[in-house]
Order: sequence, then structure tokens, then C-alpha cells
Amino acid sequence: MAYQTTNPYTGETLKTFPNTTDAQVQQAIESAHTAFLSWRDTPFSQRAAVLTKAAQLLRASKLDFAKILTLEMGKLLAEAQAEVELSAEILDYFAAHGEAFMQPDTLPVSKANGRAIVAREPLGVLLAVEPWNFPYYQVARILAPQLMAGNTLLLKHASNVPQSALAFEKLMRDAGLIDGAFINLFVNHTQIETILNDTRVHGVALTGSEGAGAVVAAAAGKALKKSTLELGGADAFVVLEDADLPKTAKWGVFGRHWNAGQVCVSSKRMIVVDAVFDEYLRLYTEGVAGLKAGDPMDPATTLAPLSSQGAADEVKEKIRQAVAHGATATEVGPKVPEQGAFVQPTILTNVTPDNPAYHQEFFGPVSMIWRAKDEADAVRIANDSPYGLGGSVFTRDEKRGEAVARKISTGMVFINQPTRVKADMPFGGVRRSGYGRELINLGINEFVNHKLINVV
Ligand code: NAP
Repeated sequence: MAYQTTNPYTGETLKTFPNTTDAQVQQAIESAHTAFLSWRDTPFSQRAAVLTKAAQLLRASKLDFAKILTLEMGKLLAEAQAEVELSAEILDYFAAHGEAFMQPDTLPVSKANGRAIVAREPLGVLLAVEPWNFPYYQVARILAPQLMAGNTLLLKHASNVPQSALAFEKLMRDAGLIDGAFINLFVNHTQIETILNDTRVHGVALTGSEGAGAVVAAAAGKALKKSTLELGGADAFVVLEDADLPKTAKWGVFGRHWNAGQVCVSSKRMIVVDAVFDEYLRLYTEGVAGLKAGDPMDPATTLAPLSSQGAADEVKEKIRQAVAHGATATEVGPKVPEQGAFVQPTILTNVTPDNPAYHQEFFGPVSMIWRAKDEADAVRIANDSPYGLGGSVFTRDEKRGEAVARKISTGMVFINQPTRVKADMPFGGVRRSGYGRELINLGINEFVNHKLINVV
């Protein structure tokens, strides 16, 4: 794929970037390794100061940073600004807590075994392979913990967000990060394998599709390197009979349509118990119909285009396939504009388990809604998915919500909220949603050497 900026609202290709050559890849690995040798000995206070400065710079130029996101992948400008803020919060969070997370653990061993501690030490150069849907947040959530751990990072960002990748690289340079500690590369898929085969590189964190995850994790495994995978999701949005329906429907509209529905933790599968199904569907449909598609730079717009015309065509084809296999598709709201990579908001019902859509992830404004007999049936449908990322339960009874959450087989469940993305909470899933966790102490622990030191 060529690295280029194509505005998904106008369809115009604005800028193209040359690929990183093999020789440049080698230089980058060497620089990142050299940087590691000094960064690992840099005091935590200095590492934290760089992160804090980067957070300040992000906030100081929030609008400028945000505009790059909207230009390259089409998200609403307000959502882009929120992403800049979230990225700053992640940098601040690890500046504040990174040192504590890296402290050794003292083990409760028998007297005969003396004193045993498990120290945490950085591994070296890591690779991050990231997607376009949150171009800054995805980078912040791997970069902040790993820099605090003492590792250095090479970035291969998605090919449609090159200016976002360059902006983050410049941000870290401006914040005072030493040369080589964070390097953006415009590499192709084959070069990823070359990087992973290099002995100076110690692991890879990938966020993206199952296909990319399988290829990159296989290459890492072949090279005997650790990987973490944050992959797709089809979060269940369970509505019980005692839910506050007007509020729940509003959350549903938001959960399914923010970022134009292109979020791994979008509320993609709504499962509503029979007793309130009709009323929920009425309120939800009314809410979706109220969305206003248009220029993502215009503050009045509430539904953004998809990231590219190709992405929009793919979603439309998936809707067609779902209908061909028996689903009912109901288009909702005023017609979306002709210009821009828009998909008409669509509600899919009657999606039976033999329909391929039943187990698919729709990366756009497509809501699948099922009628469940009762709570137990809702949990059954929620768990009938190859994915296991997030999910939510709506009920006025928090205790009941928590009990249902325990039965949902995913990495994250939220009560009376769609799956949230926060600087101070872990992120990750199970099954085909991947493995490993990002953020908090779990994220930092993914790429450190847990070294036992025993004094007898
Ligand atoms: P994608 O095609 O898998 O792209 C993600 C990254 O992987 C890009 O940098 C891409 O580079 C690279 N890549 C793609 N195919 C590759 C291959 N065969 N070998 C090596 N690298 C490869 O993902 P997407 O479709 O743009 O993003 C949407 C997917 O990501 C959805 O499934 C979504 O649910 C998931 N996602 C998950 C999370 C999470 O945290 N769990 C968060 C966001 C998104 P190129 O651009 O150069 O192809």
C-alpha cells in the first residue's frame, strides 16, 4: 500500500509519501537500539518529563492536531479533539504512574529460599503496527507505557494516515525525546517481517484486523518474539426489561455511530429482551434518524464519512450479503450525501445464526438487533460470537448488571454505558479479539523482562 493522505469527504488525494527503503529500515533499527542503550538508564523522572511535555504540546495545539485526523480519516472534528485529549491523558497517566508500575515485587518465599524479588527490566526495541481509526490514541497507548518502561519503539502506522504518524513523531521530538527512541517508518508488509527477524527487535504490538494480526503474530512467533494483538470486536449491547429506555437508546445511537461506527468496541450487536424490544427499536430508530451526515469539519455534522470509499463499499457489500442470506435491512434517516465515503445508517434484523453476518464485524453505521426471550437468552446470544472484546448491559439494577457482566465472555463489560476507552482503564479482549492488554500496569508488563533475583 502507498502511504498517502486521501480526504474521505472529498475523495481528493492530497499528498503521497515515499516508502522507507530497506537501508533506511536498517538505520532505524540501529538508531532505536542505540537510543535504547541510553534510554534504559535514563531516570524515570526524565522519562516522565518528556511524556508530560508531549501532553502539554498536544493540548496547546489541540485543534491543529485534530484537523490532521479529520483530514486523513474523516472523523468528526469534535471527536478528533477528544482523541487528542485522550492521548494527552494517557501520556500524563504513565508519567504519573510508570515508575511505580516498574518497581520490583518481593515474593512470599519460604525462609529456606532467602529473599526473592522479581525486577522489571526493559527488553529493547519494539515494533508497533497500528490502524487508522484512532491514529494518535493507538500510538499513545503503546508508546507511553513502553517509554516509561525504558523500551524504544518503531512505528508502522496504517498507510492512509501518514501525516498523523509524522505529527506524533514530531510531537515526541519537540517534547525532548532522545533521537531514535521513537521512529516512524513507512514500511510495507514484507519489511515488517524483516524488522521482526532482527535480533535487536524484541516484540511487536499490533492493533488491527484478524488478518493482519495472524500474519504479524506468525512472523513474530517464527522469530521467537513476543506479540500482543488487539483485534476486531462485535460488542454486545444488552438491554434488559428494567433499563431506562430513552437513555439506553441514546447511548445505543452514540455507541454504534461514534467514529462513523468504525471502532473495535462499537456497540455492534444490540440484544434486547422481548418485553422492551419494540419500544427500544422505536426509540433507537428515532435517534439514528436524527443523525446528520455531512462535512466532518462542520460542527453541525453528527455522522462522519467512513475512512475511505473502499471501506464504505466493503460495508455496503456486507449489507447486501446479509440480506441475500435472509436478513432484513432497514435504511434509516435522511439520505446521506452523494459526496464522501458515506454509508446510509442501516438496521439489520432477522439475522439468523446461519447468516455469515451473524458472526461478522460491521465497521460502519450498521446496527444488528436481536430479540431475546429473557436475560438468560440475551447472555446466550451475547456469548455466541467469535469475538470477545467489550460489551455492555443496561439495567436500573446495578447488582443485576454486574451479575450479567460476569456471564459475558469478553475482556471488558460496562454497565449502563457503551464500551468506554479511558486512559486509566485496561483495554483488550479474548478469543478472536486477540490477546494481551494495553494500558495501566498490564500494558507496561507486556514487554518487560520479569527478572528473578534470589539472595539465599
Ligand atoms: P488492518 O488492515 O489490519 O490494518 C492495521 C495495520 O496492520 C495497518 O498498519 C496495516 O498496514 C497493517 N497490516 C494490514 N495487513 C497486514 C499484513 N498482511 N501484514 C502486515 N501488516 C498488515 O486494520 P483495518 O481494517 O485498517 O482496521 C480495522 C480493524 O482493526 C478492525 O477489525 C478493528 O476492530 C480493529 N481494531 C481493533 C482495536 C483494538 O484495540 N482491539 C482497535 C482499533 C481497531 P497497511 O495500512 O499498510 O495495510
